Amino acid sequence: MINIYSNLSKKRDIASTLAKSLENPESGNINNPNQSRVIVVTSGKGGVGKTTTAANLGMSMARLGYRVALIDADIGLRNLDLLLGLENRILYTAMEVLDGQCRLDQALIRDKRWKNLSLLSISKNRQRYNITRQGMTNLIESIQNLGYQFILIDCPAGIDVGFVNAIAPAKEALILTTPEITAIRDADRVAGLLEANEIYNVKLIVNRVRPDMIKSNDMMSVRDVQEMLGIPLLGAIPEDSHVIISTNRGEPLVMKKRLTLSGIAFENAARRLVGKQDYLIDLETPYKGIFKRAQDFFFGSENVD
Ligand code: ADP
Ligand code: MG
Repeated sequence: MINIYSNLSKKRDIASTLAKSLENPESGNINNPNQSRVIVVTSGKGGVGKTTTAANLGMSMARLGYRVALIDADIGLRNLDLLLGLENRILYTAMEVLDGQCRLDQALIRDKRWKNLSLLSISKNRQRYNITRQGMTNLIESIQNLGYQFILIDCPAGIDVGFVNAIAPAKEALILTTPEITAIRDADRVAGLLEANEIYNVKLIVNRVRPDMIKSNDMMSVRDVQEMLGIPLLGAIPEDSHVIISTNRGEPLVMKKRLTLSGIAFENAARRLVGKQDYLIDLETPYKGIFKRAQDFFFGSENVD
């Protein structure tokens, strides 16, 4: 396995990345409520879970009490609104804001369930709109001025047009990958692109992990993926059919009363992202054991059947 992948990563120098992110005042905990963190959620390969992750992390952080703005910058492939169940409430997008046809607050849709969570779409579905770097930067600055503490940008995949403009205002990035060699190789490329755009505070989320396949040596472990890319790990999310159910319902997984393992994993990633000192949930401990322990942790053992 090592031979196939050895030329993949330049083995980014984690120490220097961390040092750079420490120099960045916008990384780490938010102690000052006026400070905000602008984070792009990106990947090399498409379809690896960016939008699912943006919706769940955003909702989870809002539930933790932070003011969160989610930006759907995947122009032409917009679907963050569907995952949040907000598709019928979008009258205006950033296009109209930048063209002076409406105010920012008219395009920034507040979630009814959590009023501290808002969504802004860059353009309507199937509408090609080339937002410039400057346009994107101005837009994010205006949202920061409204007092949002976290601005999560759901980005196009790294090789798509629009990627470079969408990441312009960000100081941090989350790279999504699945434990497959194609997605990992593309994640490595996107990590290079982020570095070239001076985004050094980068964290990894490995999605669609199958502990049973890892056990039978049919899938790379989360640790393997992390070591190959040399990017600090924020979270690992298991493959879970509930993701599809929650997408269809327009309710992010983290809203369920009784969380599934993927919901717990997203919540764990959100807590780590805001700077809480939670340990990473280890998906590779025997499935039932970790699931039961995680549920016990969140709800107490009497709630678990
Ligand atoms: P992207 O935004 O990167 O294109 P999406 O978030 O739209 O990816 O996810 C692509 C597809 O994969 C969707 O159908 C989604 O429901 C599914 N998916 C994402 N994460 C998981 C998961 N952990 N388990 C099962 N299905 C998932
Ligand atoms: Mg998407």
